[in-house]
Amino acid sequence: MDECLFCRIVKGEIPSFKVYEDKEFIAFLDIGPVNKGHTLIVPKTHSETFMHMDENELGKVMHAVQKVANAILKATKADGFNLMLNNKKAAGQVIDHTHFHIIPRFHNDGFKHWPQGKYADGEAGKIATEIKRFL
Ligand code: ZN
Repeated sequence: MDECLFCRIVKGEIPSFKVYEDKEFIAFLDIGPVNKGHTLIVPKTHSETFMHMDENELGKVMHAVQKVANAILKATKADGFNLMLNNKKAAGQVIDHTHFHIIPRFHNDGFKHWPQGKYADGEAGKIATEIKRFL
């Protein structure tokens, strides 16, 4: 855990452009921003993925996200933002410490939304049933 980049940023061992901090979370600029102002919200307690995140923090993180996103919108004069969480390598998670991306977006920033697929006949019902089985 000592090697975790974000734990080291939380401890102040590695500098960051910190924009927000409270008891449970810090927010700092992503050093490789999609758009300028792209910010990461990071729980101070290490958890490898969202699925491992402390239950108590789960209830609070969205308050921090909303607060920081509001400031980003004002500071960057963005037209909107994306809130993203990459969970595990297959989904693009690079640092194994839970983090939320707030990415300011502009009408003409040129980024495309994800492509949309289609379900075959009966497929959506089967998948919905399978998901519900585990809830
Ligand atoms: Zn960590």
